[in-house]
Amino acid sequence: MDEILKVKADDLCKKICSGEIKSLDVVKAYVARIKRTNSKVGAFLKLNEKKSLEQAACSDRKIESGEKCDFLEGIPIGIKDNIMIKGESMTSASKYLENYVSPYDATVIEKLKSASAIFIGRTNMDEFAMGGSTETSAYLKTANPWNVEYIAGGSSGGSAVAVSAGMVPFALGSDTGGSVRQPASFCGVVGYKPSYGLISRYGVCALASSFDQIGTFSKDVRGSALLASVMIGKDYRDSVCEPIEQINYVNYIDDDSNLKMLKNVKIGIPKQLFNYRMDTEISENFNKAVNKLRFLGAEIIEIDIPSYKYVPALYKVIMCAEVSANIATFDGLRYGYRSQNAKNLNDEYAKSRAESLGYEVKKRILFGTYVLGAKNYHRCYNQALKVRTLLINQITDAYRKCDFIFSPATLQVSVKFGETLLEECDIFLIVANLTGLPGITVPSGFTNSDMPVGVHFMGSRFSDVKLFQIANAFEKISDFDVNKYPEL
Ligand code: GLN
Repeated sequence: MDEILKVKADDLCKKICSGEIKSLDVVKAYVARIKRTNSKVGAFLKLNEKKSLEQAACSDRKIESGEKCDFLEGIPIGIKDNIMIKGESMTSASKYLENYVSPYDATVIEKLKSASAIFIGRTNMDEFAMGGSTETSAYLKTANPWNVEYIAGGSSGGSAVAVSAGMVPFALGSDTGGSVRQPASFCGVVGYKPSYGLISRYGVCALASSFDQIGTFSKDVRGSALLASVMIGKDYRDSVCEPIEQINYVNYIDDDSNLKMLKNVKIGIPKQLFNYRMDTEISENFNKAVNKLRFLGAEIIEIDIPSYKYVPALYKVIMCAEVSANIATFDGLRYGYRSQNAKNLNDEYAKSRAESLGYEVKKRILFGTYVLGAKNYHRCYNQALKVRTLLINQITDAYRKCDFIFSPATLQVSVKFGETLLEECDIFLIVANLTGLPGITVPSGFTNSDMPVGVHFMGSRFSDVKLFQIANAFEKISDFDVNKYPEL
C-alpha cells in the first residue's frame, strides 16, 4: 500500500497545509487505491475522480500562493449515499431514488465545503439505512476487507470499509441504531455518533428522525474528533440542533493527559450485559479491556439498568413508526421512481412503491403503520414512548454514579454473507440512539481468525469532548494496531 495512504487524517491536514505533501498526490493515490480495490470490497457506489483531482489542484495552488488553509484543505472524504450534495445523485441505495439529483446541500456538506474538503465518492449502504449488513442495498454488496467472505456490517458499511481499506482517510455515515458504530467495529476503525442535536440532520435522508445522527469513520480517534469539529453547531433548519459552543475537539486530544485522566474516571458496566449470549472472543477481549482500564487507574463500577431488556422492542416499534411516516413522502408523484403500469392514482402510489422498494423497507413500513394504527397506537407506540422515558431516567441515574458506560461494541463478530446476526447484536449501541447520548466504538483487537473486535464508550449528553478523550486514552492501550491495514 502506498505510504501516503497511511498518513493519519490529522497529520495529512498538517502536511498538506505546510506544502510538505501535495493534495493532488494524495487524491491521486486514493483514487488509484479505490480503483484497485473497489471491485473486491464494493465500498463505493460512485467515484468523483475528475472533480476531486481538479479540487485538489486548486487547493495546492491556494497553498502555493500563501493563502490561508481551510480546516480540511484538499482532504478527500467518502460520503454515505444518503447525504445530499447539491447537483449530485443521492440514491440511499434504493431503486426508488435511482435518478434523483439533490437540489441542495446538507448542512454538513455546506460546512465541509467551506472547510475545503473533497468529496471523492459516494459509499454504499443498506437501502434507506435499514439493515446491519449493507446487504439490503439495491446496487452492491459490500464485503469486509479483513476477509471478503464476511459482511462489512451496516448500514454505513461502505464508509466503514472505505476507511478500513485505506480508500479514504475518513468518511461520513448516519447512525439511527448503531449504523456507524457497528460496521466501524466489524471493520476495525473508529466510529462516532454524536449527542443527538450536536450535528444538523438537514439534508440527510431520514430514517427515524428522533434517533438519526450523522457520524464519522476514521482510522484513529483524533481523525473523528477533527471531522466532528467541522460539523457541529446550531442550524436553524434542524429544529433539534442545539446551540453548542464551537470548539475544536482535536485541541483536547493529548495522549499523556488523556491517559492520566483515567485516574479520575468512573466507568460503569451495566450488569445486564452478562444476560446476553456473546461470542467468547468478544467477552474475553472486553474483560481484557476492562482490566487495562482498571490497571491505569480507572474505577470500574457495576450499574443497574433494568430497562435494557426492552431495548430491542422499543427500537423496533419507535423506529418503524417513524419510518412509516418518513417514507410516506416516497409516493411516486413528487420525485423518484414512478410506475409506468398504473391505471389510476391509487394504483400509481401502490405500484411505484411496490416496484421500487426492497423487502426490508416494505416490512418496516408495514410494521410501522401497524403500530401507529388506531387500535395499536396506545398499546404499542405510546407505550414504547413511555418505556423510552423510563430507560432515559435509569441511564440519567446511572450517570450520577459514573462518567461513561462501557460495553463491547457488539455481541458478535462479523458473520459470513448469508448468515444472520442476532437481533440483539447491536443492543449496546442502540441504547445511545434511544437516549440521545454520544457513543464511540474503538477497535480493541482481533479474533483468532483475524477479524476485528471493538468496544463502546457512551457518555452523558453533550459530553462529546470527554468521550473523545477517553476513547483516545483507550486507543493508546488497545491491542489493535491502528497502523495495520487489511491486505487486499
Ligand atoms: N441495524 C439497525 C437497523 O437496521 C441500524 C440502522 C441504522 O442505524 N441506520 O435499523
